[in-house]
Amino acid sequence: MTEKIYYDDPHISRFTARVTECAPEGENYGIVLDRTAFFPEEGGQCCDKGTLAGMEVLHVSIKNGIIKHICKDPLAPGSEVEGEIDHALRFDKEQQHSGEHILSGLSNSLYGCTNVGFRLASDITTLDFDKPLSPKEIADLEKKANEVVYRNLPVKCWFPPATELEKMEYRSKIELTEDVRIVEIPGVDTCACCAPHVDFTGQIGVIKVIRHEAWKGGVRLTILCGNRAFEHFSKALTTLDTLTKLCSAGLDSICDAVKDIKDKQVKAEAEKNKAETLLLEARIRQAAEGTAASPIVIFTPSCDTRNVRNAINNANSSDRLCAVFAGAEGSYNFIVECKKGGLKTVLENLRKTLNAKCGGSDTMLQGTITAEPKAILELFKD
Ligand SMILES: [Zn+2]
Repeated sequence: MTEKIYYDDPHISRFTARVTECAPEGENYGIVLDRTAFFPEEGGQCCDKGTLAGMEVLHVSIKNGIIKHICKDPLAPGSEVEGEIDHALRFDKEQQHSGEHILSGLSNSLYGCTNVGFRLASDITTLDFDKPLSPKEIADLEKKANEVVYRNLPVKCWFPPATELEKMEYRSKIELTEDVRIVEIPGVDTCACCAPHVDFTGQIGVIKVIRHEAWKGGVRLTILCGNRAFEHFSKALTTLDTLTKLCSAGLDSICDAVKDIKDKQVKAEAEKNKAETLLLEARIRQAAEGTAASPIVIFTPSCDTRNVRNAINNANSSDRLCAVFAGAEGSYNFIVECKKGGLKTVLENLRKTLNAKCGGSDTMLQGTITAEPKAILELFKD
């Protein structure tokens, strides 16, 4: 078993160790040391990053108590190497993980929730509870969790002897019997956990739930703690500042200002659709005044397909073939309609002669085409 230095000193960043094994692993090498400060990917938490003998450690895993470091080049078994973990990243994960324990412990004592899922990724942390929580309950939970941060309680991590463990009440996803590491925040949470944590809850800084969603009959919370929450807040504030300037609004009126823009946009879109449809209808009716038997073929600037369809339906009451090509510079969306049918041949010709991508029925075709208007008109001549 690898000696886990991160348990004795969760703040260690440099350490020396002896290489006990080194074997190829895909394009890289799997390196085992007699001791390590690298926390492996375990219990829903991603692994530490850093270097071994100056080489970047690409991944760290654990199996049967043996921790394996993946590096690009091999290290000689027996040699002594220096390792260094990225302590800023480690501390970031400690902030997230300790914050998660507080939320899970409180959700259990306040609402009887059980944490059934946890994932600490490099950007966000998600925790899943088996019971649904209302937005008000989540807000209360978040508030109480931050009060635990302000109280700056100790976070105690230890391996209790079996006799002591038997009498303890603690959260655990699986049945554990030996070498159970307990992480306790007095009066808030006691949980079996293998990961490094902050020493005091004050080091978490802040706990923020940024999203909640229904999840398998319960709820999934997405959270940011400590520096992640600070950076998120800074980014959100910059965005908000830009938005308020763009809309010439203040913080209190920005939502109304954006809603107003949205309403105007919806209204303008409806007016544009109406105008487009009416214009096309007029052009179809005008074209229909020509030779009674010839097909109506119209080219129009880019236009919503629904408007083309509506205009044809409204304006072409006869049995004549009516085709509208909407677009520019030889690239069009089109609709062809003929109430008496017979568009199968037109479909084949459009595909074969002009390489159109289209489909539909014997009375209505829809598609896209890249061709000169002259070539398209030629096709409809007969
Ligand atoms: Zn944990």
